[in-house]
Amino acid sequence: MLRADVSSLDAILITHEHNDHVAGMDDVRPFNFFQRRDMPVYATVRVAAELRRRFAYAFGPDAYPGAPRLLLQEIQKDTPIQIGSTSIVPIEVMHGSLPVLGFRVGSFTYLTDVKTISEAELEKVMGTEILIINALYHTPHPTHLHLEGALELIERIGPRKAYLTHIAHSMGRRCDVSPALPPGVELGWDGLEIVVD
Ligand SMILES: [Zn+2]
Ligand SMILES: [Zn+2]
Repeated sequence: MLRADVSSLDAILITHEHNDHVAGMDDVRPFNFFQRRDMPVYATVRVAAELRRRFAYAFGPDAYPGAPRLLLQEIQKDTPIQIGSTSIVPIEVMHGSLPVLGFRVGSFTYLTDVKTISEAELEKVMGTEILIINALYHTPHPTHLHLEGALELIERIGPRKAYLTHIAHSMGRRCDVSPALPPGVELGWDGLEIVVD
């Protein structure tokens, strides 16, 4: 957040409870301090319960002084979220056997830790112009799409531009991987900025 020079943050959308997706929760504190308010955090009922357990020091009447101040908002996969003037559509994808959420804002969709997606949820993604989707590496993995699987899904969705994320080191170097990617598909990078309509 420091390197990306993020000076304000309206809310946080949680895809799922795995540690690589929630371990930064303590870094909400400077936003609490400078914005002088609790941070709305959107998550499903299951994930919210897990956050309360894992970050117990930040919740309840005995919350530790100086802990991040989080305002948990429980959401469901079929109910759009409204944050200010922005409407956000949750999309449920399967991370192996674990249901996790992706999110669509206008023509932008963010999906991570996808292994499979139902036809009904895929319908919510259709029409996306800019897509972020996970691609771990070159061989199949039980709970994450590998490169070939991600490229197949990208082809079905047909975005104008797709960025791959959640990439393992064994994907290889950008200069070696990029030439083999279809037009409009690129490896994402830290600091990538996307303007959402
Ligand atoms: Zn995960
Ligand atoms: Zn992950």
